[in-house]
Amino acid sequence: MKHIAYIGLGGNIEPQAQTLLRALKLLKGREGVSVRRISQFIRTEPVGPPDQPKYTNAAAMLVVDLEAESLLDVMQEIEAELGRDRKSEQRWGPRTCDLDMLLFDDVICQSARLTLPHPRMHERLFVLKPLAEIAGAVVHPVFHKTVAELLVALGGK
Ligand code: ATP
Ligand code: MG
Ligand code: MG
Repeated sequence: MKHIAYIGLGGNIEPQAQTLLRALKLLKGREGVSVRRISQFIRTEPVGPPDQPKYTNAAAMLVVDLEAESLLDVMQEIEAELGRDRKSEQRWGPRTCDLDMLLFDDVICQSARLTLPHPRMHERLFVLKPLAEIAGAVVHPVFHKTVAELLVALGGK
């Protein structure tokens, strides 16, 4: 069964854009994953511990022939391949590549490993701005608002 997933990409260790491009290339190379749309890359102020470099953020639309947990496995393998070591990092601290699953069809779920939709997506401009570019009309299954409406509600446009 094919599913539509929207993911957020981010990183703040140089070379940031190159790392995000590599992440997208690695995703494309995985069985059962097709990358259909990619937003522009934007530069954003870090959220979390102070004194970190700026982030580069983007969003992508995937069509996958995988269940959500398997897609999360793939995303975490790619993060590791790009040098991310979750055990040694600070929460929301600097990282080479963060791949978050924002939406997976209309799935609402909360398990130990995976919460859908991503529990903080609606409060983050760095997520909603690029996402609105490729999925402005997509409806958030919990808030019943479009991504474009969520962005406006946060003061973005
Ligand atoms: P945030 O979730 O606030 O963006 P983060 O991306 O820095 O923070 P990570 O260290 O990347 O957090 O992930 C922490 C855990 O979140 C992972 O172990 C993963 O299992 C879990 N997780 C739960 N829901 C999701 C989701 N929708 N997308 C990605 N990871 C998720
Ligand atoms: Mg994140
Ligand atoms: Mg993450």
